[in-house]
Amino acid sequence: MIKITMLGTGNGGTLDLYNTCFVIENEEGAFLIDTGGSIEIIKRLKEANINLEEIKNIFISHSHTDHILGLIWMFKKMGRMAKNGEIKEKINIYCNDVVCETIKGVSDYILAPVLVEAVGNVTNFVVLNDGDQYTINGIDYEFFDICAKGTKQFGFECNLEDNRFIFLGDETLNPLLYDRVRNADYVTHESFCLDREENIFHAYEKNHSTALSVSKTMNELNVKKLNSLSHRRIT
Ligand SMILES: [Zn+2]
Repeated sequence: MIKITMLGTGNGGTLDLYNTCFVIENEEGAFLIDTGGSIEIIKRLKEANINLEEIKNIFISHSHTDHILGLIWMFKKMGRMAKNGEIKEKINIYCNDVVCETIKGVSDYILAPVLVEAVGNVTNFVVLNDGDQYTINGIDYEFFDICAKGTKQFGFECNLEDNRFIFLGDETLNPLLYDRVRNADYVTHESFCLDREENIFHAYEKNHSTALSVSKTMNELNVKKLNSLSHRRIT
């Protein structure tokens, strides 16, 4: 059985929610999608009963703080575990070239050299190009460039028990990708705020969407189920 667990659904600056990240789990393991921006990733995984040792594959969509900095905290833990011989299998990190450079650069600056070396021994960076396909925990994934207006960013699509599931990252869907998304069973798309809050939060000028604008687009594209992640706490 495949299970998706949302570890957080908040925006980049949230104080009371964790940043958006989730796990796709099946019998073969846990695939972590983004890591949020703090040590809270460790706590969230624990609360979801997912051991760090079970995660052999990680995808990072883009290099913004609220998506990659959780990984640095995971590296601190992994580095110690690696030194103790507790990590038997390499951990694959799937990401685009910008993300790869950022993670390596930040790690070099802020982690102790001994930890950087230990992490390097147990991780394998898989640098993605548009359209690359990989089988992860027995599930076929196709990774693609979401053609973001901001930082280079990737999403993916996969088949989950005969359902076409698409993760679109952290920007309003670029019309260049409408054909890919059309008729999907499940789509995960950001939504920064409610439509009536647009004048307060200015989603559009940040390349984000409102819940209403995403819903309209997804209806037009005949998407069956939409997981519209609320970046702002909506009260
Ligand atoms: Zn972002």
